[in-house]
Amino acid sequence: MNIGFIGLGNMGGPMAANLAAAGHVVTGFDMADVAIDGVTMAASGAEAATGADVVITMLPNGKILRAVADEILPAMTAGATLVDCSTVDVDSARAVADQAAAAGLLFVDAPVSGGVGGAAGGTLTFMAGGSAAAFANAEPLFAIMGQKAVHCGEAGAGQSAKICNNMILGVTMLATCEAFALADKLGLDRQKMFDVVSTSSGYSWSMNAYCPAPGVGPQSPADNDYKPGFAAELMLKDLRLSQQAAESADADTPMGELAQALYAQFVETEGGEGMDFSAMLPRFEKRSRS
Ligand code: NAD
Repeated sequence: MNIGFIGLGNMGGPMAANLAAAGHVVTGFDMADVAIDGVTMAASGAEAATGADVVITMLPNGKILRAVADEILPAMTAGATLVDCSTVDVDSARAVADQAAAAGLLFVDAPVSGGVGGAAGGTLTFMAGGSAAAFANAEPLFAIMGQKAVHCGEAGAGQSAKICNNMILGVTMLATCEAFALADKLGLDRQKMFDVVSTSSGYSWSMNAYCPAPGVGPQSPADNDYKPGFAAELMLKDLRLSQQAAESADADTPMGELAQALYAQFVETEGGEGMDFSAMLPRFEKRSRS
């Protein structure tokens, strides 16, 4: 396939390299001056999109996605598919889907989980929204860049699934960290805490696969001075998107709202920027009740 790839950052760069390594012809564009193995660089997004069967975007947010879509949709060949893998607000995903349809193009919103390691290793999970035809066009590429792709429903469904998942992740990580901090103050050994909770009803991915306590459970960012991993500011971004969606859908999400407030405080006023999102454990540990 001829693939245009726009946004070759931490995630997009390795994803594009994997597509090229699998034999696809990949033409890339990024605002920054980047070079990616096997990818021919274009001078603009529109140039990268011209003549492509599929254009993939991997951009920071919905505002930038909308601006890039304005530029590239007119350059795309009728019947081609735009696959947005960025994490953006549901409204932007739906707006770009409508714009693509009006231009005779197919669209899939396909945010990912798996982080930079998953992008490099080709083991991402894709959560996709769009028509069956659009998903079918993107699926062979998901199989190269990832190990699982779930077609969640119509346009916007991929972003909806992503932010609901990450709202659960933010809330369970906070619950796990505050429980460890309480256990510490009760004099409970951390290893014993892990041994019990990881095999009891408090278990979760945060505890079992990404334990926020150093030296306990599997290797995780806690064992590497809380270097990300999944940075606290990215968790904050996703929690904000979930609250934005909850507001527009009139959904009551008090736990998600509190998680957003705690991560905002951590990132903006407590030095949490650039730390892994599990660094909430040392943050809770240092605090008292008042
Ligand atoms: P990044 O900042 O490393 O990459 C974004 C790239 O987009 C940059 O290289 C930037 O120069 C480029 N860009 C910005 N505006 C552009 C424009 N108008 N035209 C062309 N290029 C432009 O970010 P990332 O970590 O690669 O994340 C990308 C997306 O993936 C985000 O939406 C993020 O939320 C999501 N995501 C990231 C992770 C992660 O662990 N990093 C995990 C899951 C999802």
